[in-house]
Amino acid sequence: MAVRIDNLKLRPGDSEEKLLQLAAAKARGCRYFRILRKSLDARDKANIRWVYSVEADTKPFPEPMPNVAPVSKRPRVVVVGSGPAGLFCAVWLTLAGVRPLVVERGGTVEERVQKNNNFFARHELDENCNVQFGEGGAGTFSDGKLNTQTHGPLNRDVLNLFVHFGAPPEIAYLNKPHIGSDRLRVVVKNIRKFIEENGGEVRFHTLFGGVVSAEGCCKAVRLRDLQAGTEYEQAADEVVLAIGHSSRDTFAALEADGFAMEPREFAVGVRVEHLQEKVNIAQYSVTHTLLPPADYKLVSRGERTAFTFCMCPGGVVIPAASEYGGVVTNGMSDYARDGQNANSALLVQVRREDFDRGGLLDGVEFQRKLERAAFAAAGGCYAAPVQRSGDFFAGRETNRFGDVRPTYAAGVVSLDLNRLLPSYVSNALKRAIQDMETRLRGFADPDAVLTAPETRFSSPVRILRGESLESLRVRGVYPCGEGCGYSGGITSSAADGLRVAQKICEKYR
Ligand SMILES: Cc1cc2nc3c(=O)[nH]c(=O)nc-3n(C[C@H](O)[C@H](O)[C@H](O)COP(=O)(O)OP(=O)(O)OC[C@H]3O[C@@H](n4cnc5c(N)ncnc54)[C@H](O)[C@@H]3O)c2cc1C
Repeated sequence: MAVRIDNLKLRPGDSEEKLLQLAAAKARGCRYFRILRKSLDARDKANIRWVYSVEADTKPFPEPMPNVAPVSKRPRVVVVGSGPAGLFCAVWLTLAGVRPLVVERGGTVEERVQKNNNFFARHELDENCNVQFGEGGAGTFSDGKLNTQTHGPLNRDVLNLFVHFGAPPEIAYLNKPHIGSDRLRVVVKNIRKFIEENGGEVRFHTLFGGVVSAEGCCKAVRLRDLQAGTEYEQAADEVVLAIGHSSRDTFAALEADGFAMEPREFAVGVRVEHLQEKVNIAQYSVTHTLLPPADYKLVSRGERTAFTFCMCPGGVVIPAASEYGGVVTNGMSDYARDGQNANSALLVQVRREDFDRGGLLDGVEFQRKLERAAFAAAGGCYAAPVQRSGDFFAGRETNRFGDVRPTYAAGVVSLDLNRLLPSYVSNALKRAIQDMETRLRGFADPDAVLTAPETRFSSPVRILRGESLESLRVRGVYPCGEGCGYSGGITSSAADGLRVAQKICEKYR
């Protein structure tokens, strides 16, 4: 019988061989061991330890893959979007014997790398293939953090599937799993191969434009071949809308089609960069070459709540626009997380009354206005407005950076961000920076760099769905993932994809 052993501790740098010895001493007779959990305990800076939970057994452990029952009748399923929600939905359907068609407005990972390099260097944006759109969705050029605040068994299935498709095995047990953009790209390509080898299809450069329905049931989808410029209908019994939070034209098309939707509150702000070494010292007391680059997560409550989000140790700030004439920032890292700077979104809550003028897409307009103002103020070439934190407090433009250099790849222009951001945002940011300094020494470093704006924290709308997870307007249409308001982040979006796939499979069993 399997035995669980908790609270096994190793010093940083100890070999995991030692862990096996510790576990074997506590589970005599067992020959098979696997790590269930690994986390870093850095509360006592003089005594930092890795803490493990291990499972031991006398027989080998089964392959940790989800057990998917096959469907008895194969429906025609179109999955819109190849982000984590769409891809994991398609994987589950494929495991059940369905052959899904995944349609994606952007290109393959390889094309995206090329398009992004072109955008960063020559400032030529492709509105359909960029950091937000294309194979793997918004997660492909991300930090690749896989931790989530949501709970449930599907998260475990997501991590096991990630490992199955080529992610490092440790993501299955680390309490802060990280895959990195470089490794995520490999996983995404393996998933596509799996879908195709099992009879499904991934159709790139294909824009979903709406649903054709009869008597409240889905019959087909309207698609546009973006390369040929042609439109056609594709028959579909079930359609999964895994469109992400940046597909604003698709939100407008769904609104025009009468889908039940509602506005959602969101948050905006800046990316803040510090020297990674200083964050390490603040978190670990000393520079520790045997420990991973340190992270942080901070919240500051006040009249407006401000919080850090998507912190990327050893990463870069990435240009993440998907519309002409707008500047959007985000963060990215590779598996090694070996860049000089740590960056994080520093966001302030935006309330309904800040943007609501009675229109469903007023939140989109609010975000767009800020992105366009930044674009215009920074010279109209996708460079981003930037300012030293000390200058932000003093209300003057930066003429010299200190020891933190901005990493935003499409160029930066020095501007006073107080003039760009709404005053309730810039005031809340200043208060939060000072407050966060009390919990993370160095957070208010005057040399920290602020790059703006960060606007795509979450979807400003929700597409309503009922208990069957189908849209309230058309049966057979499943709003799914972050864009439709049902997840936030890679793992929870992928888990929502699995949830929707399970509902579809139930219908055909
Ligand atoms: C730079 C960056 C860094 C990030 N870092 C992290 C991180 O470290 N950890 C984390 O958990 N989250 C991170 N995120 C957020 C994470 O990527 C998203 O939460 C996640 O990708 C949402 O998954 P999704 O499948 O719902 O949507 P998306 O990943 O946005 O995928 C939607 C897909 O649908 C396609 N699409 C949209 N409309 C249409 C249409 N009409 N027709 C055809 N295709 C369409 C899009 O092209 C896109 O590929 C990051 C995001 C960005 C941009």
